[in-house]
Amino acid sequence: MRYSQLLLPTTKETPAEAEVISHQLLLRGGFIRKLTSGMYTYLPLGFLVLQKVTEIVRQEMNRAGAQEILMPMVQPGDLWQESGRWQKYGPELLRFSDRHNRDYCLGPTHEEVITDIARMELHSYRQLPINLYQIQNKFRDEIRPRFGLMRGREFVMKDAYSFDVDDQAASISYETMRQAYHRIFQRCGLEFRAVEADSGAIGGSFSHEFMVLADTGEDTLVICSGCDYAANVEKAAIAPPPEESQSGIALAELQQVETPGMKKVNRVAEFLRVEAKEIIKTLLFEADDQVVAVLVRGDREVQGVKLKNLLGASEVEPLAEEEVWPRLQLPVGYLGPVGLDMRVVADYEVMGLVNAVCGANAKGAHLTGVNPGRDFQPELVGDLRQITPEDRCPLCGGNLTLTEGIEAGHIFKLGTGYSEAMNATYQDQEGVGQYFVMGCYGIGVSRVVAAAIEQNHDQNGIIFPVPMAPFQVIILNLNLKNEETCKAAEGLYQELRALGYDVLYDDRDERPGSKFKDADLIGIPLRVTIGKTYEKSGEVELRQRRSGETVSLPYAETVAYVDDLLSKALS
Ligand code: ATP
Ligand code: MG
Repeated sequence: MRYSQLLLPTTKETPAEAEVISHQLLLRGGFIRKLTSGMYTYLPLGFLVLQKVTEIVRQEMNRAGAQEILMPMVQPGDLWQESGRWQKYGPELLRFSDRHNRDYCLGPTHEEVITDIARMELHSYRQLPINLYQIQNKFRDEIRPRFGLMRGREFVMKDAYSFDVDDQAASISYETMRQAYHRIFQRCGLEFRAVEADSGAIGGSFSHEFMVLADTGEDTLVICSGCDYAANVEKAAIAPPPEESQSGIALAELQQVETPGMKKVNRVAEFLRVEAKEIIKTLLFEADDQVVAVLVRGDREVQGVKLKNLLGASEVEPLAEEEVWPRLQLPVGYLGPVGLDMRVVADYEVMGLVNAVCGANAKGAHLTGVNPGRDFQPELVGDLRQITPEDRCPLCGGNLTLTEGIEAGHIFKLGTGYSEAMNATYQDQEGVGQYFVMGCYGIGVSRVVAAAIEQNHDQNGIIFPVPMAPFQVIILNLNLKNEETCKAAEGLYQELRALGYDVLYDDRDERPGSKFKDADLIGIPLRVTIGKTYEKSGEVELRQRRSGETVSLPYAETVAYVDDLLSKALS
């Protein structure tokens, strides 16, 4: 492609609305433009990258024996009624009705539609196993669309669904996908990790997430240094602490003490000369429109997904501080479970506290001598806190480390949940109807693009892994007025394209400085410069974007050199 003809609107300024680096660079590099909240147009460069990822995904899915189909994005509400998710899915499901007043939704995922296909088209065990997939736009009305392609409302997903005769066969399909996913992320050239994960709204029993490692990731992974254990912190279970004998410790009397202005655990601890872990922290959450008080030790954090699962809620969000007084007439910073008139749930550890401290539900006051069980009784007690590096590996007791990642793929064992709800059966060898055992497998194709940038960039711009780069080589012609230079650049452009490489030829009448800047910004792995040196000595300069390694080569050797570098990077 000739740069002069390409719609590639790069900018110097960092757009104010972009918080994370991938969003900034995708906008600055002219890859995407925002239509409205959470929805983006892919400009030519963005679409090229998206296609690179799509093609890797498609090849590996096909290699794993899956068959590509394409389902409608709009889905009838009736199917969601059948599966029970019309009620359960929550406000991420964008619902609307047509002119006949029939319910529809925009597909956030396609379990219902594919199960409907299965019950119509798959009749016999002889047709199984089968895995059907599509690569298509999904819509989820995310509560906080953000970070550009990372969390959009409309985004591109590869979703695959497997159908098997029984659980054992389903495990084989799952394993086949797990391996395909490893190949996909390896081929993309990304550093990633597969971790045990929560199953979320999709349902099912068993799942792994594929995490692209990046400091800016929204997910936290816990990895054991002693064994293979790796999990999303949402899933990383913490066993209840052993019941400590509390005999011998006299239970103190409940007492209200003045703690003016002390809203934070640390201030209260210092003031009352106790440790943070002796304080009961009370946090308010909104779980499906109901306010719930959640108790953890003062030195712990609530894990939202664990809370959601314990409550069986479809959505859980912290209640905004400014809403607490107007809605509940309770003072933020001084909350406590004693005498609190609402649902109260507690982490295991809280129940082991003796003579603890908590807020008094009165401004500037706390209670001491608080004893769970005597002074308050939570409705539910469970594993609600976030795991920490001080915890031990639940499998081997080894040391844990926490690291950030971006969920790029998610594979689930679904079991028979959908096939039972929607009565989808095949006939077994005896001619008896049996429910399909299902699995589903997603990759956020557009999120992979953002994740790759979060992981691979520097202060000058993107550093695309070669397999994902929109172009593998950029040729900079620094003297358009010189006929020899133009001939050389043109010749190289044609030769490299003839070898099958994606080449961008910067034939713009621009200053060298801005050509260098743009080439760095858009992250093309190899840069070939034809300029002054070529005019003097017939040499061109070749620079690798990632390492900055630069060599000068006689023009005649350039094609072979580039071919060698790129074929290695793409193999
Ligand atoms: P998250 O926890 O990030 O919301 P999810 O668990 O809802 O993800 P899945 O339902 O498993 O996601 O969807 C499959 C894949 O689709 C995810 O692994 C992710 O890569 C991608 N994905 C999900 N939501 C979005 C989104 N809002 N924008 C872009 N990609 C997304
Ligand atoms: Mg989600």
